[in-house]
Amino acid sequence: MRAYTAGNTDVPLLEETIGHNFERVAARFPFHDALIEAAAVPGGDARRWSYTKMNDDVDRLARALLALGIRKGERVGIWSPNCAEWTLLQYASAKAGAILVNVNPAYRSHELEFVVKQNGMRLLVVAPSDPTSDYVGMARNALDQCPELQQVVFLPDSGVEGLDAGVPQREAELTYAELLKRADAVGHSVLQERMAELDPHDPINLQYTSGTTGFPKGATLTHHNILNNGFSIGELLGYTEHDRVVLPVPFYHCFGMVIGNLAALSHGAATIIPGRGFSPAAALEAVQDFGGTSLYGVPTMFIAELALPDFASYVLSTLRTGVMAGSLCPVEVMNRVISEMNMVDVAICYGMTETSPVSTMTRAEDTLAQRTESVGRTMPHLESKIVDPATGDVVERGQVGELCTRGYAVMQGYWGQPEKTAEAIDADGWMHTGDLARMDEDGYVLIEGRIKDMVIRGGENIYPREIEEFLYTHPDIQDVQVIGAPDPKYGEELMACIILKPGAGQLDAEHLAQFCRGRLAHYKIPRYVEIRDSFPMTVSGKIRKVQMREEAVARLAL
Ligand code: AMP
Repeated sequence: MRAYTAGNTDVPLLEETIGHNFERVAARFPFHDALIEAAAVPGGDARRWSYTKMNDDVDRLARALLALGIRKGERVGIWSPNCAEWTLLQYASAKAGAILVNVNPAYRSHELEFVVKQNGMRLLVVAPSDPTSDYVGMARNALDQCPELQQVVFLPDSGVEGLDAGVPQREAELTYAELLKRADAVGHSVLQERMAELDPHDPINLQYTSGTTGFPKGATLTHHNILNNGFSIGELLGYTEHDRVVLPVPFYHCFGMVIGNLAALSHGAATIIPGRGFSPAAALEAVQDFGGTSLYGVPTMFIAELALPDFASYVLSTLRTGVMAGSLCPVEVMNRVISEMNMVDVAICYGMTETSPVSTMTRAEDTLAQRTESVGRTMPHLESKIVDPATGDVVERGQVGELCTRGYAVMQGYWGQPEKTAEAIDADGWMHTGDLARMDEDGYVLIEGRIKDMVIRGGENIYPREIEEFLYTHPDIQDVQVIGAPDPKYGEELMACIILKPGAGQLDAEHLAQFCRGRLAHYKIPRYVEIRDSFPMTVSGKIRKVQMREEAVARLAL
């Protein structure tokens, strides 16, 4: 049997915009919780939105965007760790028809300015600065460096010690409160007219994912792409208005904003934000305090929660389900989540940003082995196949090849990069994932590894080429290859193998880290540095990264 499957089509795809879908759900469950943000300060109050209140606040924010003159299809960025305003802006931008650009909060000035320029971003909503990230200062620099960026909006610091929202210094800077006041100038009917102009197949979200070209590429996703993917995931998790979904995963990534927000909020369920960044204790406290029925995480998050010294003291009895995704999910961790966290129906999702993201998923009715050892079966309305990477022919079940996905969830393309899009999506509409997988007789998919030389450190995808290109700007570096070295905590750590220019002095990991700090996201800074005289090459002149990795593992005894 050939390694091809198509998902079922029992539940039709939604043919509406994100804004209209939300209004429909809000009208059905007006007084149910939609959004809860756990107290930011000890002893403080959680912030809560019912569906009605959230819809009102989303409308106000959307009218404020219209008041600033934001047109349909213009790019509005958000650069912030998780907070309630992130979710409000996700829905407000969708109602206003602006394309929301998710900016990774770990980015620094170099990456921020690249993204702003790449898509011609008009407005950027910015988190308060914290002791490790001067968001306000870097956003101000971007205003100076990028003429297309006309406005930045500073999110409030909510009275949290160590956060600094910044005081506007010029017309191009606004506080969030000032932005909301602008809404008074735009009536509700103007927003309704804008919403009526939008088509579900319009792009509504840009998510940057690191590319082999050395710089991030913007996956361009429509309402139709992400609303249907989120809705489908919610259906398979059995979400209803009684579910309360705890989200310690980042909103800038589809794990938070699609698998989390869109799945829950298209079903009348509540979304719960435990905090700005991930903390294992805060995640479990949120489950306990707000009666979480579903908990999300990449494998390392669940590992950290299970390892808490006071793990047994948390009341997790309300949990029934959740999602583990993002990288290979160890069977052992899945088993513990099921037995020790009460997440009896937990699912593994597999996918990538370019496919909205989820293309295969386990189901509650699968056997324990299928639910812990595979990434499940093809999602509804999608197709999966496994091909021989050399010939492109579909392989037999059981054979390893490249996993490809086709259907409504495949992105429109990479923003402004048609040639890169054509490399990823073939003429027949198949997205080539670059992941090696096999399909068993029953259609379950097992991930074997990746073709592409991407490094995944703690759930963050890192493309060596991007870092190599940056390191080439160091005056002492002649040549550099970045590889992933195995690491028990993060899965992989970066190693920079460097050939120094003749006469150059010493260059160690600490020196290199100093060179990168403030210019590259912390997770892209190499942990190890190895000085070499040459790199192993193939006869055709390609560097043998696999061999370099093996040598490094042996030398460092990893
Ligand atoms: P991203 O675009 O950041 O979502 O990363 C996509 C990549 O993450 C995929 O191409 C896979 O290599 C990896 N990935 C995502 N989910 C899983 C999973 N459940 N099991 C194994 N690898 C995964």
